[in-house]
Amino acid sequence: MIFGATGDLAHRKLFPSLYRLHKKGRLSERFAVLGVARRSLTQEEFRESVKKSISSALGEHAELEDFVSHFYYQSHDVTDSGSYIQLRELANQLDEQYSLEGNRLFYLAMAPEFFGTIGDHLKSDGLTDTTGYKRLVIEKPFGHDFESAQELNTRLRQAFAEEEIYRIDHYLGKAMVQNIQVIRFANALFEPLWNNRYISNIQVTSSETLGVEERGRYYENSGALRDMVQNHMMQMVALLAMEPPIKLNTDEIRSEKVRALRSLRPLEKHEVNDYFVRGQYKEGLINSERVPGYREEPNVDPDSNTETFVAGKLVIDNFRWAGVPFYIRTGKRLGSKSTKIVVQFKDIPMNLYYNTEETLSPNLLVIHIQPEEGITLHLNAKKIGAGMKTTPVKLSSASKSEDRMNTPEAYEKLLYDSMMGDATNFTHWDEVALSWKFVDTISSVWETQKEPSFPNYGAGSDGPRVAEKLLEKDGHYWWPVENLDIDNC
Ligand code: NAD
Repeated sequence: MIFGATGDLAHRKLFPSLYRLHKKGRLSERFAVLGVARRSLTQEEFRESVKKSISSALGEHAELEDFVSHFYYQSHDVTDSGSYIQLRELANQLDEQYSLEGNRLFYLAMAPEFFGTIGDHLKSDGLTDTTGYKRLVIEKPFGHDFESAQELNTRLRQAFAEEEIYRIDHYLGKAMVQNIQVIRFANALFEPLWNNRYISNIQVTSSETLGVEERGRYYENSGALRDMVQNHMMQMVALLAMEPPIKLNTDEIRSEKVRALRSLRPLEKHEVNDYFVRGQYKEGLINSERVPGYREEPNVDPDSNTETFVAGKLVIDNFRWAGVPFYIRTGKRLGSKSTKIVVQFKDIPMNLYYNTEETLSPNLLVIHIQPEEGITLHLNAKKIGAGMKTTPVKLSSASKSEDRMNTPEAYEKLLYDSMMGDATNFTHWDEVALSWKFVDTISSVWETQKEPSFPNYGAGSDGPRVAEKLLEKDGHYWWPVENLDIDNC
């Protein structure tokens, strides 16, 4: 059951992902999709819209008839109690028609203010009274801060147990984010070095070239900290920092991630601006085209204090990571679209090659999350020719573009996992709570301090100068992401 079935997420991601699962034979023949949204649509119109979404996402035209015959629609205002009864009847009827054995997945692809209401009604109007499994898949944002997240969670828990709630963080569905564990735990080469004896610092960058587009109203209340840091960035840090789980199952992996987040040193209010910096874009050039500044975007306050860029230093207080900073940065309207992790190893104890023209570069392990997918290891080797000069070399493994065409999209994997009851790549409440608590201190300071330098970076640039300074203080610098691209290797 998809709530918000006429929305952008359903059309761009959910319907094409369901279709790909169907095509790969990963969806049982006994399935029905019940779309729910406010707009009044006939069954036929809804099926047509599903077909359109699949053809525009995947360019498929043939064979859609049979697939969309499994789709049903109910126009329903989620705040109106009466229509849930109708929905229950339709769900029961489909259950019988497709022999679904009472298994129900409720996907909330709607604005977050409705999450609590829908949860309440699903229970009070009997939709969760079913003989099979019942699961709730819920989109971000999960709350606006710790308090609202806790309130929402308590409400949802009236209708669903923790293990029935699948909180989406679509970064966890990305192939290379899932690969972090494999790189770490399946290679004798890395895990022994994965600590403060050998690693100097870790940098996680997620940059976008897009601006806020038509999401100004949402973004004004969110900013980059809530939109990106609390969830995606902190999830990547948890995966990089966690201890090896004793088994690769949901509970063990999640509990190690929770432990990593618990080891995060909380910030005191007076420390916030020493550890975290913010930016807001002004007008500039993206792909040689002039784009407006954030304050000129629709539904944005012309004097907005909202950050569109965040860089920060996370300190993890445990034996493994003491002394190793985890730097994160994320922003909109930057020079390139790229998500990468750079693990910078410490310098060797003594440089025997000090008299070469080049200074020795540190070894780097780069994990390319998107748009490129792959890993690169930066080493030093002997320069060809006479003498003992060194030169940097890069060993790369990139998913080929045709592989990438076939790599399941994050939503495809997450939908499949939720149907199979595998919650590993969804966030547990404890992770959500810990990351909100961490981020809340930062937002409480930033909301009360107007940033006088805003706007402080040009669209198309690498972000504000303060982000560079944050690392310079520690004697480090950001590895420029575009130079690390696999294509440049
Ligand atoms: P949207 O505005 O495009 O769609 C909202 C849907 O909710 C529509 O189908 C609309 O009919 C329905 N709706 C609104 N009010 C309703 C009511 N009272 N009763 C019944 N239906 C109602 O939103 P979206 O972009 O698809 O986003 C949905 C959720 O997914 C949000 O939580 C968003 O944060 C999250 N999300 C979206 C994307 C994306 O790419 N669009 C990405 C990540 C997360």
